[in-house]
Amino acid sequence: MKKSLFIKPLAAFALVFLFLGLSNSYAQNYWQQKVQYRIQVRLDDSSHMLHGNEEVVYQNNSPETLQYIWFHLWPNAYKNDKSAFAKQQLLNKKTKFHTAAAKDRGYIDSLAFEVNQQAVKVEFNDEFPDICKIILNAPLLPGQSLVINTPFRVKIPASFSRLGHVKQAYQITQWYPKPAVFDHKGWHPISYLDQGEFYSEFGSFDVKITLPSNYVVASTGNLKTISEELFLDSLANAKLDSSKIKFTPIGKTKAITPASTSTFKTLHYVQDSVHDFAWFADKDFLVKKSSVRLPISQREVKTWVMYRPANKKYWEKGVDYVNEAVYNYSLWNGEYPYNACTAIDGALSAGGGMEYPMVTVIGGVSSAKMLETVIVHEVGHNWFYGILGSNERKHGWMDEGLNTFYENRVTKLLSTSNVMISDSAMASVNRFFDLKDFPQGYGNYLTYMIAASLHKDQAIETPSADFTQINYGAVMYTKSGLVFYYLQNYLGRSVFDSAMHVYFERWKFKHPYPEDLKAVLTEVSGKNLDWFFDYLINSTDQIDFKLTDVKVINNQLAVKVQNRSGFEAPAFVSAIDRSGNVLETFKTEPYIGTNILYFDQAKVSKIQIDPFYVIPEVNRNNNVMRVKGPFKAIEPFRLQAIGSITNPKKSQLFFMPIVGYNAYDKWMPGIAFYNHIFPFKKFEYEIAPMYSTAYKEWNGLAKAAYHSYPSFAKEITYMVNFATFNTNYISNDMLAVMHYDKFSKSSFNIDFEFKQASLQSNLRQKLSYRFIHTNIATTYGDASSVVNNNKQDFHVLNFNAENSAIQLPHSLDLRYEFSNTAATPYHKIAGTFTATIPYQSLSKGLNIRLFGGYSTTKADNFSGVGLFSVSGDNDYLFDQVYTDRNNGQYFYVQDGGFKAFTSLANASSLISLNIKAPLPIKAPIGIFADAAYLPNYFDTDNRFNYAAGIYFPIINNLLEVYMPLYVSTFGKGSLIDTEKPNFKNQIRFMINLTNLQPLNLLRKISI
Ligand SMILES: [Zn+2]
Repeated sequence: MKKSLFIKPLAAFALVFLFLGLSNSYAQNYWQQKVQYRIQVRLDDSSHMLHGNEEVVYQNNSPETLQYIWFHLWPNAYKNDKSAFAKQQLLNKKTKFHTAAAKDRGYIDSLAFEVNQQAVKVEFNDEFPDICKIILNAPLLPGQSLVINTPFRVKIPASFSRLGHVKQAYQITQWYPKPAVFDHKGWHPISYLDQGEFYSEFGSFDVKITLPSNYVVASTGNLKTISEELFLDSLANAKLDSSKIKFTPIGKTKAITPASTSTFKTLHYVQDSVHDFAWFADKDFLVKKSSVRLPISQREVKTWVMYRPANKKYWEKGVDYVNEAVYNYSLWNGEYPYNACTAIDGALSAGGGMEYPMVTVIGGVSSAKMLETVIVHEVGHNWFYGILGSNERKHGWMDEGLNTFYENRVTKLLSTSNVMISDSAMASVNRFFDLKDFPQGYGNYLTYMIAASLHKDQAIETPSADFTQINYGAVMYTKSGLVFYYLQNYLGRSVFDSAMHVYFERWKFKHPYPEDLKAVLTEVSGKNLDWFFDYLINSTDQIDFKLTDVKVINNQLAVKVQNRSGFEAPAFVSAIDRSGNVLETFKTEPYIGTNILYFDQAKVSKIQIDPFYVIPEVNRNNNVMRVKGPFKAIEPFRLQAIGSITNPKKSQLFFMPIVGYNAYDKWMPGIAFYNHIFPFKKFEYEIAPMYSTAYKEWNGLAKAAYHSYPSFAKEITYMVNFATFNTNYISNDMLAVMHYDKFSKSSFNIDFEFKQASLQSNLRQKLSYRFIHTNIATTYGDASSVVNNNKQDFHVLNFNAENSAIQLPHSLDLRYEFSNTAATPYHKIAGTFTATIPYQSLSKGLNIRLFGGYSTTKADNFSGVGLFSVSGDNDYLFDQVYTDRNNGQYFYVQDGGFKAFTSLANASSLISLNIKAPLPIKAPIGIFADAAYLPNYFDTDNRFNYAAGIYFPIINNLLEVYMPLYVSTFGKGSLIDTEKPNFKNQIRFMINLTNLQPLNLLRKISI
């Protein structure tokens, strides 16, 4: 199929060929091993087995004599819980593999390695079931080859990662015994991983696949079987049988897939200059065929897509996306060297798509746009990994990062819109959320900022397996794409493209390392690129440019631009007129400190750093300065409903109408003002005045926090909080007087979060200090003025350690509290330990909580201040948000953690055990049991108490409902009326309103 974009003139090519003639000294000492595979394999689709035989001719081109050869047996990743894959799944909190039935797991067996037809010793290691070491009977000298033979059998697992099947749809990848890479840095034996890709030797494949005749197969390699070629052509030409389109998605089909024929076919594929071989077989595939003419040689490449009928609506144009990718990547990097390129629609549990030489598999997509992006990306991997075979496990950015950069470039080229959200139906959304100023691709910048604005990002040059899950995507893919775009803009597109062509020509079918890419880019551009590789690739150092001054000197605008990044980097600075047009742009060379740029003064209204959003800058609020006016650096103020991402051209204040409620103030309409949503800011505040309809007065909340990230801590937060609301209650004494309490609370805290051993660590430790001042202004009965102001100060020191490992999440909380202004000054210590022992399913588990506390205050202190509460309803620090704080029916799990309301007074010492056991079924229901011992309780017969019942965790740990069924003496008192216990009154609600607030939730995102 021909598209207009295929006949674009090729401007940059004269330059390209100039540079190809540059020095070749790099290659003088280069060597690499060679592998030639001959594989026969048969698919048994009733037992999901592969039966195969493999021969590998291994040629030692290294200067070393080899005594052994490392081999990968990657299907064994699915063999047991010991494999690196299995362990990584748990680390990433993925439980599908661990809870899978044995029949759904996979393995490779029936191996019998021979070298040059002699049996050899093979060493296995229990810790790494997917790697083995073949000990050679005789050493393999430099320049010599040997032949390795083995039969093999693969049990194809269910779809957990890449190799797998969903019923009779097969993804046959990472499936055959394969030598590890030996290069100038040594051997690279690597276990199969889900997060972390591969490194393989180049060579040739001759593969024969036998399977039932009615399978449609997509594969690496040139198909040599003419009858199969005709079969695929007939499918591609066939008019679509409309009845097929009604199929439900893969995995949900109800035996609509046709039975396998009893006849078999054998398909023969051969291919040179590839380092892997994958194939996909499915009986339901629809087929489309096209071709694309390469930009320079005009050679024609056959292109295919194969997809399941249920996804027809997205895949109709799928083959065009393959063509777009093959054409543009060829144009920008070097021509596609193979004869065919295929994308298929398949089950994949390891992300949106996965690349193999000449064939890529795309997982579930939800729109044609998304399919386009994923196909472009996966097909693009033919260059960055397929042809340029870097070590993806160690330097993942060399394939994923560069490939994301080119994927962005292709999708931008094909897009008709320049705004961030291009759908025209979204125009009003764009306007409302102030998104119209942001260009397409700004979403990538925001993705990088998720972790970067919390200072939890990692360097681009980080081994794949060491990334946190979020950083694996946000840094290795997205940030890499951004920094290469920055580099391209600094060098200029033609120089950048020329360099990448040289890189391609020099390193195709080889193993380039980061230093090799750097050498080519440096050589071709003639620039020192240390700033790029040492900082943007190798560190988490962030870029920030700041406009410090704009003034007129000799009829020119002198503009001071400060680079605050801590390393040299080039700045792009533009002069902009009154209507927003860019008049001129300066690109500086990389520098550090302050640079003065001179602009022609005419018509300039403001100066802006990086108006096109090319630089991955972390602080864009210091990028604009007007030429005239008293507050040149301050952006125009904008009061904005609900809010949006931070707009660097505005000083934003967000607001939102809110309604609060508590049992005393009743409904409280109000308005919340806040300065932040995303990216996260160092200084964030929220102010929420609320009008009490019952008391006819203003109450509310306010909070301001400053987050800092020094090198010795993960994060230090300084925060002030203020809250004021009303409560009332009838006194518990004989007079039964109505008390009206207006409480106000101010607090200041410092949270010190310890640095983790690694960002992937499940252990988080925090030390915090809080100073709390409370004032309770009390009015009795119908008295009209405050008769008592009760002011108290508290100091709380807290150590909290939390281990979120999915195998056994547990936490420890230690607390010391004291007050010398309380009615009875006291010291108080307490410790809480919790652990969840997962059930087989791992998504639920038995929760155990142990609490112990001791206070020096008197047990008969009626205020409850300084005491522990058995039922978790003594909140004298006003830490929790309650809808009804004097009604024991609402509670928060603290101290004794009793779910039943007990009529026990607060205790000065307390030991308790709480157990929650959710039933191992889908429904949110479980049983609970609590026990408490009060050593100092005056009633010696009732020092031990217990309760048990059922509970409904509607939202786990946020909203839970408890129904006590069995309680000891002191639990029998009902909440409301101790004389008439009543089942309904015993029901209690645990609502964690504090943790439900959206702005609090946002920051808790785990990176
Ligand atoms: Zn990729």
